[in-house]
Amino acid sequence: MRIELLPSSIPSSDRQFLVSFVVNDTVAIDAGSIGLLADLDRQRAIRHVFITHEHLDHIASLAIFLENVYEPGPDCVELLAAPDVLSFLHSDVFNGRVWPDFFELSSAENAFLKTTVLEPFVPVLRGGLTITPVPVSHGVETLGLIVDDGRSAVAFPSDTGPTEDLWCHLAALPHLKAAFLEASFPASLSELAALTGHLCTRTFPLEVAKLPTAVRKIVVHRKVRYAAEIAAELAALRLDNVELVRPGYVYEF
Ligand SMILES: [Zn+2]
Ligand SMILES: [Zn+2]
Repeated sequence: MRIELLPSSIPSSDRQFLVSFVVNDTVAIDAGSIGLLADLDRQRAIRHVFITHEHLDHIASLAIFLENVYEPGPDCVELLAAPDVLSFLHSDVFNGRVWPDFFELSSAENAFLKTTVLEPFVPVLRGGLTITPVPVSHGVETLGLIVDDGRSAVAFPSDTGPTEDLWCHLAALPHLKAAFLEASFPASLSELAALTGHLCTRTFPLEVAKLPTAVRKIVVHRKVRYAAEIAAELAALRLDNVELVRPGYVYEF
């Protein structure tokens, strides 16, 4: 399985403003930056877009992406998300004001998008991958995703504070190779992290302890203005198998 966290800064750097992972070229997890890929062939290769929740850093370029890849005809991109997220996208983004109503404009013969409702704990099979949504603990309803190609499984908890269901689910996966786990805030902002449903460098190690040591924990979603502070605090903890994500690097599992 090949996984890339797309860069979201110009020029490319390790500063992460937006969230989009691309898995095996055809599946995207969140649409923060998929619409910003300069290589339009890469955008066109993405056929299934999973949205974990509606926060802007996870949907920022969705409308641009759908416009970029649209071709007249029945073949179109699939959006997969919880029912509330799909309904929010329709009412608050594709509403004929912020952006054209791609939901209403889509017909069986000519479609901008099609939608699939994700149910917690019900796996879907897309692009040869089994993808299981598991609720996590964020400020709004959010689905973490477990992606499994039969040989390797990788967890994408998305935005979350301390949580349980996901780790229970992962405990049953002996071939779990990695988790792209958020660490949004430094220890000094632990109250803000708790209020907004994020991890900080105090709670991050407690979540890491719920995963097997051999699993790579790849740190994502550091709030940019605190990124160096978070990195220094995590380094001081000397946690096993914890590394900072490299945007634009292709991980293979
Ligand atoms: Zn969020
Ligand atoms: Zn976020």
